[in-house]
Amino acid sequence: MQPLSRQPASWMAAHGRVLAALGAPIVGVRERDVRFVGGIVRNWLLGEPLGDVDIATPDTPDVVMERLKSAGLKAVPTGLDHGTITAVDGGLTYEITTLRRDTACDGRHAAVEFTDDWAEDARRRDFTINAMSLAPDGTLFDYHGGAEDAAAGKVRFVGNAADRIQEDYLRILRLFRFQARYGRSDIDNATLDAVRAHAKGLARLSAERITQELAKLLAAKNPAPVVAVMTTTGVIGEILPEEQPGPALTRLIAREHETPAPADWLRRFAVLLPEATAAIAARWKLSNADAQRLAALLAPDPVLGPATSVTNLNRALYHLGQGVVIDRLLIAWAKDGDDPAWKQQLARANAWTDKTFPLSGGDVLKLGLAPGPQVGELLRAVEDWWIEGGFAADRDAALAELARRA
Ligand code: ATP
Ligand code: MG
Repeated sequence: MQPLSRQPASWMAAHGRVLAALGAPIVGVRERDVRFVGGIVRNWLLGEPLGDVDIATPDTPDVVMERLKSAGLKAVPTGLDHGTITAVDGGLTYEITTLRRDTACDGRHAAVEFTDDWAEDARRRDFTINAMSLAPDGTLFDYHGGAEDAAAGKVRFVGNAADRIQEDYLRILRLFRFQARYGRSDIDNATLDAVRAHAKGLARLSAERITQELAKLLAAKNPAPVVAVMTTTGVIGEILPEEQPGPALTRLIAREHETPAPADWLRRFAVLLPEATAAIAARWKLSNADAQRLAALLAPDPVLGPATSVTNLNRALYHLGQGVVIDRLLIAWAKDGDDPAWKQQLARANAWTDKTFPLSGGDVLKLGLAPGPQVGELLRAVEDWWIEGGFAADRDAALAELARRA
């Protein structure tokens, strides 16, 4: 994705085709009041990287579709009932949403009514820092003190916290996700009381929505303080009953920063769990790739500990790969406590370079063995001999060992 300029006036140029298609004012002709909204405005104010381009317009979705199509732009009605259309131009994706008010929220879904009132659209948004809009000429519209809150790192609901949570319980998790990412002052007590009082409502959300939010939350630079607050307010107990209490996440993050290891939500998720079970992966609706990786991170075998021999560590590195072993060491170390020998194990794993076993099944067959399971067994036995020898044996030495054992 091409970087967006920090000068709003030049956004008109960067996003000119989409803005013009939607009828944004060009050379002073104000046809339609089209504005940037949501995260892009917040991040622009904060000097943070700009993510997706969210745009709002008073035009109804059918008009938006028409406008985009007649400008020759690709338009996909991704969320028509909520008034969202996705446009694609120049490799950028635009989410274009009709101004709306939410009616009849049942804790998960809202019925929506379209409006041309920007203040009403701001009122249905979750947090003050997410409720601002920015016109292409650089005018900021800030209906709920979002700029001040952004500067103070304050994540605050638009309106009454308890009401907003009961409209959509996902907002509990969004609160903590934005706090983990942007918070520089504590969430206020009235909000935490509302979270505590309504945490049970999280049970009404689908596993997919919870997993999506939790993944984003756990990918923050340091989510540990927020997870601690989520624990004391009963949120973790509601969504993750098998959570391991205690300081493992805090320790993991400290060690990730030392190592350094990239922020990775699944590694952090793994440290909150006592063991990987297929049931957890299924309940959380993890993708196959995530489920397999979680199982590898928490598998009981091989045990990797501060006392694991170099050979056994090498064996794990060779068979499981460096990434999995580093993650397993980080997780086990965080859960286990403070033995300094962990650090050395991690250094060994970090220094690992990939090794290639110099023999193949063909070498076994050349010795006259009949094809069958014994070929693989013999090959694996010589491979393990090669691992135990610290990968020192070259092809000739390995062939000699194979001949000796055949
Ligand atoms: P990110 O950078 O993570 O995408 P974002 O602020 O753009 O952050 P989105 O989830 O993309 O977050 O949502 C876009 C905007 O839509 C938000 O800024 C907010 O104004 C509004 N919004 C999204 N989800 C909700 C919700 N559950 N309740 C109220 N408003 C919401
Ligand atoms: Mg967004």
